[in-house]
Amino acid sequence: MDIYTGSVASKGIAIGTIKELAKKDNSVRRVSITDVELEKERFFKAQVKTMEQLDGLYELAKKEVGEENALIFDTHKMMVEDEDYTDSIINIIETQKVNAEYAVAVTSDNFALTFSSMDDAYMKERAADIRDISDRLINVLSNKDNSALTFETPCIIVADDLTPSETIQMDKTKILGFVTRKGSVNSHTAILSRTMAVPAIVCVPVPSDVDGKNAIVSGFDGSLILNPTEEKVALAKKRLELEKRHKELLLQYKGKETKTKSGKKINLYANVGSVGDVGLALQNDAEGIGLFRSEFLYLEQNDYPNEELQLKTYKQAAEMMAGKKVIIRTMDIGADKQIDYFNLDLEENPALGYRAVRICLTEEEIFRTQLKALIRASYFGKISIMVPMITSVWEVERVKEIMKEIEVEFTSKKIPFGKYEFGIMIETPAAVIIADQLAPLVDFFSIGTNDLTQYTIAIDRQNQKLEKFYDPHHPAVLKMIQMVAQAGKAHGIWTGICGELASDQELTKTFIDYGIEELSVSPAAIFAIRKLIRELD
Ligand code: PEP
Ligand code: MG
Repeated sequence: MDIYTGSVASKGIAIGTIKELAKKDNSVRRVSITDVELEKERFFKAQVKTMEQLDGLYELAKKEVGEENALIFDTHKMMVEDEDYTDSIINIIETQKVNAEYAVAVTSDNFALTFSSMDDAYMKERAADIRDISDRLINVLSNKDNSALTFETPCIIVADDLTPSETIQMDKTKILGFVTRKGSVNSHTAILSRTMAVPAIVCVPVPSDVDGKNAIVSGFDGSLILNPTEEKVALAKKRLELEKRHKELLLQYKGKETKTKSGKKINLYANVGSVGDVGLALQNDAEGIGLFRSEFLYLEQNDYPNEELQLKTYKQAAEMMAGKKVIIRTMDIGADKQIDYFNLDLEENPALGYRAVRICLTEEEIFRTQLKALIRASYFGKISIMVPMITSVWEVERVKEIMKEIEVEFTSKKIPFGKYEFGIMIETPAAVIIADQLAPLVDFFSIGTNDLTQYTIAIDRQNQKLEKFYDPHHPAVLKMIQMVAQAGKAHGIWTGICGELASDQELTKTFIDYGIEELSVSPAAIFAIRKLIRELD
C-alpha cells in the first residue's frame, strides 16, 4: 500500500480501479513490413473498431448535448469510410510496404493540407476533422486508448493534467474520481469536477505505472491510496456510507425556501457547464441557473456553433428550468479555455490577454450569433444574459448597442423574443471601482470571485505553486465584494456571487450582511448552503 497526497479539488470518496489517461503522443514511426495483406487486414479491422467507437460517441453525445451536436460523429464516420481516404492508405501500405499507422498519418497530412488550402471556409475546417479521425484510427491501430469517452466500467481517472475540453467530453457516469499530477484547485477542470460532484485531487505525485491498480481517492485529505489494505477499503466504504447518509439528510431541504430565520430570502442558484448539468441543478432543487458557462458549448464543437444550435441549447435550458431564471454567461473563451478553431495566438499572459468580452467586441460577428440565439431563447423562458470580464463602461455600452440592433432587426423581421435581464460579471478590480458607473447600465451584478481573487491579489489561478498565496478570503477581496453589493443597492439592482466563494460556508453570513441577494453554487452544494442559511438569524 502506498499513499500519495495532493490538494483537494472536489470533495468525496472514490474506491475503484485506476485508468491512466494516456499522454497525447501523436508521433508515428515508419516501420517496414513484409506481409502487406496482414497489414491491410490490420487497417480494415481498425477501421471497423473506429466506426464502433464513433457510434458510441454519437449515442453519448446525443444524450449529453442533443442530436444536432452529435451529428459531427456521423460526419466523422463518413470520413473514416471515405473511398479516397481508404484507397490512399491502402496504396501507401502496398507500394511503400510500411505499417498502417504510418500510412494513415501520411494520408492524414495530405488530405488535411488539401482541405486547408481550399478557399471555402467550411472545407478548410474539415482539415481538423481529418486529423481527428486519423488520430483515432492510429490510436486504435496502436492499441492506445485515445478516447476519453470510452471507459467501459466506472474507474478512477489518473492523468498528468486534464483540460476543460477533455473533462467535459468524458462520460460522467463512468468516472469515480479524478487524480492529476499537475493542475490547480481553481482551474476550470476542478470547477467541472465539483459540478459533476466527482471527487478530485490535483498535484498528486502519482508514479507512472498505476493503470489497473486498485485505489482509494479521498477528496477530504487529498490522498490517493494505491493497493489499499482491506482495512483501508473498509474505512473508505464507511466514509462513503456516511457521505451518502449526509446527502440523504440534506435531502430534507428539497422544496424548502432559502430564507434566514428573520425572513431574508436568498436566491440559491446553480452553476452549470452544459444542458446536461441542468438536470443536476433540478435534482438538487436549484432555484435558478446563476451561471451557465456557455463557452463549454463552443469547447465541445469542432467549429463555431451556429445560431440555431445555440438557440436549441439555451431554449432547452430555459424550458427545463420551467420559468425559473437561467443566467447565461456569454462565451468566456481564452485564458485556460483554448479552442483550435478560434485560432488564438499564443500569449505571454493569457489571463490578462485576449479573452471573453475582448474577443466578443473584436470579432463581433461571432458574438452577434451568440446574442441572437440568446435573445431568441428569451421567448421560451426566463433568460438573463450576462457578460464576463468587464473592465470599462464602453464595453457594456457597446454590448447593449449590439443587443439593441439585434432587437430592431428581430422586430422588423417579426422574429419573436421575450423580455430578458442583462447583467455583467464583476471579476476585475476595475469593474469593482467603477461599479457605481456600471450599475445604471445593467439589471444585475454577478461577482466572479475566482477571477476577482486572481486579479485583485495578482495570483495566477492556474499556477499550482501559488496555491497557498491564492486567498479568496483576503481582506481586499472581501472589501471588493462589499463595495459591489453597496454600489448595486445604491442603484436599485441586485448583486449575486457566482464564483466558487459562493459556496464557502464560512462566508455565507458575511455575504448576506453585505447585501448579497443571490448565491450561485455547484449543484451538489445547494442543500448544504440552504441548510446553513435557514439556520442564520
Ligand atoms: C469567476 O471568475 O469567478 C467565474 C465564475 O468565472 P470563471 O470561473 O468561469 O472564470
Ligand atoms: Mg471568471
